[in-house]
Amino acid sequence: MGLPRIIAIDGPAASGKSTLARRLAKALDYLYFDTGVLYRAVTWAALQQGLALDDEAAIAALAASLPIEVRPPSQEDGRSNDVWVAGRDVTWAIRSPQVDAWVSVVAAHPGVRRALLETQRRIGRQGRVVMVGRDIGTVVLPDADLKIYLDASLEERARRRYAELQQRGASVTYDEVLARTRARDQMDASRATAPLRPAPDAVVIVTDGLTADEVFARVWDVIQRHNHHHAPESGPAPQEAERA
Ligand code: C5P
Repeated sequence: MGLPRIIAIDGPAASGKSTLARRLAKALDYLYFDTGVLYRAVTWAALQQGLALDDEAAIAALAASLPIEVRPPSQEDGRSNDVWVAGRDVTWAIRSPQVDAWVSVVAAHPGVRRALLETQRRIGRQGRVVMVGRDIGTVVLPDADLKIYLDASLEERARRRYAELQQRGASVTYDEVLARTRARDQMDASRATAPLRPAPDAVVIVTDGLTADEVFARVWDVIQRHNHHHAPESGPAPQEAERA
C-alpha cells in the first residue's frame, strides 16, 4: 500500500506534535504513541523513590526494570492514553511542573535511552503507528516511511503551553513557562546521545502562525503525495516486478 506505515514526528516541546499525531492516528486508524511518557514515567518514579537524578547507573537501572503501561484512555478528562506505573495511574502526575523540570536531565543519560529503546522499536516496527518524540526519525525508527519535524519559535511554543496549563488550572506564569521551555530545549538539543534535531530526510514544518487545522492539512497533503508516489498503480520497480 502507498500509505506510510510508520510515521515519525519529532520536534521541540509544545511545537504541536501530539495534537498533530493524535489527529493523524485517528484519520488513518493508526496507533498513536507518545514516547515522552516513557521518559516522564521514569522521572516521576525516580523522584518518588528519592533517587539522585544525576546518578546515571541508578536511573538507568530504574528505567530497565520499571513496568510502564500505556493503555487506551479510561476517562474523558483530556487524556489521550492512560499511563500506569507499578499499579498507579500516573497520567497527570507525569505532567507536573516537577517532572517537567527534571525530565530532560533523566533523558540525557545514555543508559536510560538504551533501556527504553527496544520498547519503542518494538511498538514502532509493528507499523500503522504515529510515533512522537525527539529522536524517532534519527535513532528509534530511522527507516520510518514518513518523518515530520515540527518547529516553532520559543515564544509561540511557550504561549501554547501556557494556555494549555491555564486550562488545566495550573498556577504558573507565562515567564516561568518560557524559561522552562527554553531550558528543556537547550538540554534536549545539546545532549551527546540522540540530541533533538531533524533527520536529513524529515519534512520540516514551522508552525508559527499556523492553526492546528492548517498543520494537519499540510501533513495530510504530504501523506497523499507519498501515497500517490508509492501507490501500486505507479508501477513497481522492474526487479520487484520480476520477483512478484
Ligand atoms: O514530549 P514531552 O515534552 O512529553 O517529552 C518530555 C521530555 O522527554 C523531553 O523534553 C525530552 O527530554 C524527553 N524525550 C526524549 N526523547 C523522546 C521523547 C522525549 O528525550 N523520544
